[in-house]
Amino acid sequence: KGENAVKVIKPDSTIGILGGGQLGRMISIAGRNMGYRFITLDPNPDSPCGQAADQQIISSYSDLKAAKELADSSDVITYEFENVDSNVTSLLEKTSFVPQGSELLQITQNRIHEKSTLHSYNVPVAPFLVIESENDIHKAVDCFGFPYIMKTATGGYDGKGQWIISSMDDIPNAIETWKNAGKDMIIEKFIPFSKELSVIVARNLQGQTKTFPIAENIHINNILHQSIVPARITAEQQEKAEKISLKVAESLQVIGLIAIEMFLTNDGEIIVNELAPRPHNSGHYSMDACITSQFEQHIRAICGLPLGETSLLSPIIMVNILGQHLSEVLNKISRLPPTAKLHLYGKKESVENRKMGHINFLGSTIEQVDQQIKELQIWT
Ligand code: ADP
Ligand code: MG
Repeated sequence: KGENAVKVIKPDSTIGILGGGQLGRMISIAGRNMGYRFITLDPNPDSPCGQAADQQIISSYSDLKAAKELADSSDVITYEFENVDSNVTSLLEKTSFVPQGSELLQITQNRIHEKSTLHSYNVPVAPFLVIESENDIHKAVDCFGFPYIMKTATGGYDGKGQWIISSMDDIPNAIETWKNAGKDMIIEKFIPFSKELSVIVARNLQGQTKTFPIAENIHINNILHQSIVPARITAEQQEKAEKISLKVAESLQVIGLIAIEMFLTNDGEIIVNELAPRPHNSGHYSMDACITSQFEQHIRAICGLPLGETSLLSPIIMVNILGQHLSEVLNKISRLPPTAKLHLYGKKESVENRKMGHINFLGSTIEQVDQQIKELQIWT
């Protein structure tokens, strides 16, 4: 299709969002600033996105009738989480404009599919095998050595559905876990990395691409704790990570955003860990440190608008507020530095490890910002 065929979705149109979490909320807030209207679908009647949207359909994600209702009210449809039922997306694609399509969703829903696809594009991924019999769990020792990582192919997040196998003693348990999982599983070689990085790439309906600055991500208990931008890596490593990220976005013909999680290995190589076809927690820093946030960029991309500028305006550290941090953040709210930007997602219940919000700390250097965060003694 030539550029003339591209449909531009203009402000005042309605954007439908499948899923009512914080990512949808921040998409809605960014889009409402631009004059778009929003309708979301989520079972929680007080969902973070529902609070910010014009309208919410309260229903389960797999309810086809509700999905049809969403399609009927929307000029364009997007999703804010990956585990959308493929029956729902194929119905939506028939009755509505879903520029992201369902193919990328299917790829990123399944680690086997995701890793094989990346490998077929010559994108470096950790060596892996699909577990087909209990013998494969033994075989992995010869292939990868200890430790290795066993992961469910579907449904994992924040480290859920994965196990580190460190020695022969762990193997009987691993076999038990695999047998009880009732799901496809893979084994990956453990990659000794010096840093975890992520890049968010936007690609619009016209095929224009733009990357966001690379984030250096610190995880605690497999949950993102901080994103540090600029990442403390060399110019050469930066170039390599950007090049691989653009290759991923182009190869997959992404429309919208794709977040690419990577390892920087001890020998300075980049290995892609996983993909998310949506805004990503490690891109929240862009809300306060880039002219265009990842949320606005996502809207521009799926609506066929030109992509906005993404260069970094200031060093920044984004820190997640989990359930166990919220009361301390609120206690110390008047002590937050004037260059700190608090974002909360409107979730009623503060459950341990639930993502309740984040703070973007801006400053003149990463060291200075890091010091400010430490002095607050919230995340100790
Ligand atoms: P999730 O969907 O839970 O984010 P990931 O595959 O990203 O799953 O794994 C979570 C974290 O576990 C990663 O951010 C990384 O710290 C660690 N990890 C995962 N796979 C590997 C690997 N092959 N080698 C080393 N560390 C890994
Ligand atoms: Mg991950």
